[in-house]
Amino acid sequence: MTEHAVVIAGGGPTGLMLAGELALAGVDVAIVERRASQELAGARAGGLHSRTIEVFDQRGIAGRFLAEGQTAQVAAFAGTPLDISDFPTRHPYALGLWQNHIERILAGWVDELAVPIHRGREVTGFAQDDTGVNVEVSDGMSLRAEYLVGCDGGRSLVRKAAGIDFPGWDPTTSALIAEVELAEEPELGIHTDDIGVHSFGRLEYEIRDGEVVYMDRGPVRVMVTERHPGATSEPTLRDLSEALIAVYGTDYGVHSPTWISRFTDMTRQAAAYRERRVLLAGDAAHVHSPVGGQGLNTGVQDAVNLGWKLAQVVNRTSPEDLLDTYHAERHPVAARVLRNTMASVALFRPDDRVKALGDAMSELLRVDENRKRFGAMMSGLDIHYDLGEGHPLLGRRMPDLDLVTSGGPLRVFALLHDARPVLLNLGEPGGFDITPWADRVQLIDAECVDLWELPAIGVVAAPTAVLIRPDGYVAWVGDRTQLGLADALTTWHGPPTAA
Ligand SMILES: Cc1cc2nc3c(=O)[nH]c(=O)nc-3n(C[C@H](O)[C@H](O)[C@H](O)COP(=O)(O)OP(=O)(O)OC[C@H]3O[C@@H](n4cnc5c(N)ncnc54)[C@H](O)[C@@H]3O)c2cc1C
Repeated sequence: MTEHAVVIAGGGPTGLMLAGELALAGVDVAIVERRASQELAGARAGGLHSRTIEVFDQRGIAGRFLAEGQTAQVAAFAGTPLDISDFPTRHPYALGLWQNHIERILAGWVDELAVPIHRGREVTGFAQDDTGVNVEVSDGMSLRAEYLVGCDGGRSLVRKAAGIDFPGWDPTTSALIAEVELAEEPELGIHTDDIGVHSFGRLEYEIRDGEVVYMDRGPVRVMVTERHPGATSEPTLRDLSEALIAVYGTDYGVHSPTWISRFTDMTRQAAAYRERRVLLAGDAAHVHSPVGGQGLNTGVQDAVNLGWKLAQVVNRTSPEDLLDTYHAERHPVAARVLRNTMASVALFRPDDRVKALGDAMSELLRVDENRKRFGAMMSGLDIHYDLGEGHPLLGRRMPDLDLVTSGGPLRVFALLHDARPVLLNLGEPGGFDITPWADRVQLIDAECVDLWELPAIGVVAAPTAVLIRPDGYVAWVGDRTQLGLADALTTWHGPPTAA
C-alpha cells in the first residue's frame, strides 16, 4: 500500500490548488483524479475574481493567468454591474479565462511542484482510524494517508461516505448549456423572456473598452433556460433543440455539439467541512447557481485556507485542532455565497413584480457606498475571518503594499510566494525577537509609506507590525506594543520551540 501524508480526491481547480499549497510546505501529497487528462468536457467557470487573482499573486503565479485572459469589469449582482476599478488592489478587475485554461495553468504549476497525480482512477471508498485513512481507489489500488481531502465536486463520494449532511434547497430553475454549430445566425448576447434568461455567444471573444466583442465565426456557446426544471437524464441535442424552439420558435439549425450539459440553482452546503481525518473543499462542500461566477473562486480560496493549516498539522508544528478553524472560517464565507446567489436567482425570475424589485435593487447599487460594499463582496476582497475585536486589518486580507527592506524594495505579496507566515515589522528595526518561531515564521523589518486602505472600508491606521498568515490574512496587528503576539504565533503557527 502506497503511503502519503495527504491524499486529495479530485484534481479540479480546488484539488490542484490544495496540492500546490501542500507541496510548497513540503508535504507528501498525491491527487487521485477520475479524468484521464486535465481536458474538461463542457464550459464551466468563465474567469477569476479579484481576490483569487490576488491569491495567485501571493504565490507568484498570477502572471500566468493574466497573460492568457482578458481583464474586465464584470463583477455584478443580479445583473447590475459593479465597477471596482477604483478599489485599492493591484487587480481591480476580473479576468475572463475559461475554466479549461485555468485548470491547465494550475496543473502546470502542480507539475512543477512534482505532485503525483493518479489519473484515470477514482476514489471508491475509505476507512479511517485513529492514525490515518485507507483510501480505496479503482483498479484495486489502495493508498494510506494521514488525511484525505474530498475535492471531488458537487456529487462528492468523499462527503457521502463520510456521512456528512448536505442540507439546502432543491433546484427552482435549470438551463441547458452547450457548444454547438448553428445553421442560422442568432442575435448574440443575453435575452430574457417569461421562461427566464438565455444567451448566445461565441467561444472566442475580445474585450474592447470593457465590452465583450465576439468573433465573427467559430463555435457558439448557447444557454437556454428550460421551461420545467427537474430533468435528471443526460441532456441530448433533441432536448436542446426543443428548449430553443420553446423560447425562440426556432432551433437555428443547431447541430454538431461539442458538448451539452445542464446546470441548476440547486443550493447546498456541507454541514461540516471536517469529519476527523477527512476534509471537504470546493464544490464538494458547497454548490449553488453559477450566477455571479463564484464557485471556482470560493473553492480555490478554500484550498488556500486549508493548505497551510493541514501542512502545519502533518508537519507536527501545530496541534490537530488548528484544522477546526478551517470550517469556522470558510463555512460562513460559502454560506454568504449561497445567500447572494439565491438572492440573484430570485431577482432574475420572469415576473413583473420581481423585476420591479430588481430595478429598486439596481438603483440602490448605484449609490456609491453600496456599489463598493457589493463590489467588495462579489470580488471576494471583503472576506473577514472572525479573529476577535481589534484593528480593522485583523482577519482581513493583507494589502499588497510596497515595502523598502535592507535588501531593497519589494511587494508584500512577494514575501508570501513560499506560503510561509511573515511577521512584518514596520517600526524600529530589530524591535522583535521571535527566536522560538524562527524555524517557521519569517521576520522582515521594512518601511512602508503607502496608505493602508481596505476595499469598502477605506483608509485605516497604519500598524507598526502585522503577522501575516500564509493565506495572506492578518492574524495579529501591532500598535507600538507586542501585546498578544506570542499568543497569536502559538495559535496560528504552533507552540514555541524550546531553546
Ligand atoms: C455553467 C457553469 C458556469 C460556471 N461559472 C463559474 C464562474 O464563472 N466562476 C466560478 O468561480 N465558478 C463557476 N462555476 C462553478 C465552477 O465550475 C465550480 O465551482 C468549480 O469547478 C469547482 O471546482 P472543484 O475543483 O471544487 O470541483 P470540480 O471542478 O467539480 O472538480 C472535481 C474533480 O474531481 C474529480 N472526481 C470526482 N469524483 C471523483 C472520485 N470519486 N475520485 C477521483 N476524482 C473524482 C472530477 O473528475 C473533477 O476533476 C460554473 C459552473 C457551471 C456549471
